Amino acid sequence: MSEHINEIKRRRTFAIISHPDAGKTTLTEKLLLYGGAIHLAGTVKSRKSQKHAVSDWMEIEKQRGISVTSSVLQFDYSGFKVNILDTPGHQDFSEDTYRTLMAADSAVMLIDIAKGVEEQTKKLFWVCKRRHLPIFTFVNKLDRFGRTPFDIMDELEKVLSIRAYPITWPIGIDGSYIGIYNRMTKTVELFSADNRRGNRPLTNTTGSLEDPIIKDLIGVEYYENLLNDIELLDLAGDEYSIDKIKQGELTPLFFGSAMTNFGVQSFLEKFLELSLPPQARELKDGVQDDIIIEPENPNFSAFIFKIQANMNPAHRDRIAFMRICSGKFEKGQPLYHMQTAKEVKLSQPQQFMAQERTIVEDAYPGDIIGIFDPGIFSIGDTICTEKNKMQFEDFPVFPPEQFALVQPKDSMKRKQFVKGMSQLAQEGAIQVFRQTDSSSETFIVGTVGTLQLEVLDYRLKNEYGTQLSINNLPYSLSRWIVGDKTDLTNIKGIDNAMLLVDTKERPVILVNNEWSLNWIVERNPKLTFLSVPTDARKI
Ligand code: GDP
Repeated sequence: MSEHINEIKRRRTFAIISHPDAGKTTLTEKLLLYGGAIHLAGTVKSRKSQKHAVSDWMEIEKQRGISVTSSVLQFDYSGFKVNILDTPGHQDFSEDTYRTLMAADSAVMLIDIAKGVEEQTKKLFWVCKRRHLPIFTFVNKLDRFGRTPFDIMDELEKVLSIRAYPITWPIGIDGSYIGIYNRMTKTVELFSADNRRGNRPLTNTTGSLEDPIIKDLIGVEYYENLLNDIELLDLAGDEYSIDKIKQGELTPLFFGSAMTNFGVQSFLEKFLELSLPPQARELKDGVQDDIIIEPENPNFSAFIFKIQANMNPAHRDRIAFMRICSGKFEKGQPLYHMQTAKEVKLSQPQQFMAQERTIVEDAYPGDIIGIFDPGIFSIGDTICTEKNKMQFEDFPVFPPEQFALVQPKDSMKRKQFVKGMSQLAQEGAIQVFRQTDSSSETFIVGTVGTLQLEVLDYRLKNEYGTQLSINNLPYSLSRWIVGDKTDLTNIKGIDNAMLLVDTKERPVILVNNEWSLNWIVERNPKLTFLSVPTDARKI
């Protein structure tokens, strides 16, 4: 049992959130470099150049320079087992990001020193806040001119209403920082000019602030400035509080430059030390006696937070990603899928190291495993053992905001079209509806942004060989309708609306705006109009 607890304690599962271009790919890669998971960074440059990052899977990501799907990377670092969940950077994928954050125990918020808190950072931050995730902040691109560290702290407070506790602090002046001071260890790290373009881990000079050699290396002016800054932080800054960090009310702050490796290692070490090991997860009301499951519980449990088809064009398979929440996973052990009430055999459970897959022999809470999905799993499903059945809380659902009518251009491709549409719907990439009186060749697709439609178009063409004809519809709201069959058949005031059914044959109505919705609601007092299906939680 104590081995089990040790394995849990040494795990860290987190996601990096940022606005596109803040340097997430670069930082992820540098963490892998320090973790020894890759040996030479420079092989992986910006996605905007020809080369692409190790965590990119899909062709579309390489072409568009955005990270569309989340990937999972695991590495070891000084006794820790680290799982990084890569989140998509584009705002259209907030639902996908939300699901990924469900699997994380903390988040790293990456900020470009020149740009400060950007739009997408804000949105993702609020998602983390809602999940009560502890948030660590890394201010990137310190090798460039930007805002002062104090300005960044102010901005965090003004824009995100979160106080920051600087763990590291840059030494020098804007645009020419020469090292960082670590307030926890009270040591200075100076960086050598030879950074080999960040290909290899940095060699740095470390020492105490009182060390005359270090003092000399820093120089009188920078040294005085640093002492003043530290004094100000100690006097006027927040006290360090692990409780506030855990609740996401205080963010430990780090400075560095992912590109030149400046401050990356001290960030990684402190982050691993301060961030949380796997946390307890909420269970669904009324299914079992408990309301939460602790990672130390010996009974195995996991939930599926992501499904991806055709991840590897050479394999053409479908992978469901599950996060282990309790117990120990052992290869070959019989497991139970709550939603279908069936035993499942996970014959080739896999872990992911960028594009390499390895078969997992065993895994612990906090770990992410990819399992082959024969088409039975959905987002939010629970895997446990038949002896100790339990079920996790349902994943919240984002109400779709944009709708389009989708058909195959070539009606000969109908079969592939239907297959592609239903698989992508099961993955949670899109929501699919049907008009009750039309043929199954036409689907209405609901998304939270236009990019999702582009991805749908691209994937149907590349993975299912089907060209689509997509026509946007003028609706922006959907409501699931609950009520008596007669009331439903005689629904009134829907001239400007569209009546559909979802994949579970539940009636849904699409309207242009709140006004049209109220018009319908007022005319049908016996019907209930819900923004998400009855069995889903709203975000
Ligand atoms: P992502 O979109 O957040 O994944 O950002 P990338 O990692 O692709 O980085 C975007 C751009 O910023 C690339 O051109 C990187 O080389 C550059 N970049 C990343 N980190 C740094 C840094 O520390 N300093 C500088 N000057 N550029 C950086």
